[in-house]
Amino acid sequence: MAAYKLLLLPGDGIGPEIMAEAEKLISFLSRAGVASFETEKGLVGGSAYDAHGQAISESDMALAKSADAVLLAAVGGPKWDGVPYEVRPEAGLLRLRKDLALFANLRPAICYPALVDASSLKPDLVDGLDIMIVRELTGGVYFGEPKEITDLGNGQKRGVDTQVYETYEIERIARIAFELARKRSNKVTSSEKANVMKSGLLWREVVTALHAREYSDVQLEHMLADALGMQLVRRPKQFDVIVTDNLFGDLLSDVASMLTGSLGMLPSASLGGEDAATGKRKALYEPCHGSAPDIAGKALANPIAMIGSLVMALRYSFGLIPVADAIDKAIADVLAAGLRTADIAGPNDKPVSTSQMGDAILAELKKTLG
Ligand code: NAD
Repeated sequence: MAAYKLLLLPGDGIGPEIMAEAEKLISFLSRAGVASFETEKGLVGGSAYDAHGQAISESDMALAKSADAVLLAAVGGPKWDGVPYEVRPEAGLLRLRKDLALFANLRPAICYPALVDASSLKPDLVDGLDIMIVRELTGGVYFGEPKEITDLGNGQKRGVDTQVYETYEIERIARIAFELARKRSNKVTSSEKANVMKSGLLWREVVTALHAREYSDVQLEHMLADALGMQLVRRPKQFDVIVTDNLFGDLLSDVASMLTGSLGMLPSASLGGEDAATGKRKALYEPCHGSAPDIAGKALANPIAMIGSLVMALRYSFGLIPVADAIDKAIADVLAAGLRTADIAGPNDKPVSTSQMGDAILAELKKTLG
């Protein structure tokens, strides 16, 4: 049986509560003989600062580098508001992304049929929605140099950020999008502002050339980022895979997330390059939400984004597609049966706790895989 090394980083706030629900599924999958998971646990964020004075220790970084995948819950909280900037909780997350060279951020926006009413759009616009946003994560205007505020000496200052992309950065992110599309509905929408930005012009040129060279079987369209923002709220189901840069991806993936209802439902994956020898990628899977200090310790957190992050690990790092599909189905069935945590409950629902939701998903999964 295949064995996979998984590093679990529960982090802060609701992190340990939702990670516990993912762990129930991991143990069950091992017991059921689906795969054997070797799990280790580490500290990240405020909990790591409390233990080691760092947002992630060197030994946990070493575990992250040797793992087949890292599963992280959330970091941060008011307790650590005053800690030095370099060791603030988010620094642990940024270090993981940087040291593992995770350049591709995948954020699915899926609207479960049972939750269409939780979306801010009309039900028929989001019913059955299934989009994947692929955001470039390590380049572009968030990292380009120069990046500075200079004093002009006349009572004025100038702030500068630099949007910069090189061919290889565009090619590798576009390749991820084309590969994903082949396993989905075979359509990629590439987005930039080629009408007003040189980096956008290069982006379009490189994606077009790669498509012609290696992926002409996939349908490709180009859409300006402002138009795409508009289309996302007008007719979101026209999209399958969207690939875009760091800045536009940041904005557009947040817009797409709201189409689905609640932050507690949204998983994400961050992937690195393929190792030439093993063909494996470094990968970090985490919910899109934060540590929700307002509800921490109250058993109110929705564990679905965390469980969905485990599902993405099974799908993209371990190739366990039928198992990933089975857990996705278990989540959909539990929601269809009316189970709701407080964040997705309607006025007439009686909300269940974090562990009741996790247990219900596990019970549903056992019907398929037990
Ligand atoms: P947040 O995502 O933690 O919470 C926003 C709102 O959504 C809160 O009302 C919260 O209760 C709710 N919420 C979030 N996840 C939920 C879940 N699983 N179930 C039910 N409700 C949920 O964002 P915030 O309040 O702006 O930030 C809180 C802390 O988290 C801050 O310290 C912030 O820096 C940190 N943060 C961490 C990450 C991360 O770890 N990737 C991301 C964003 C924010």
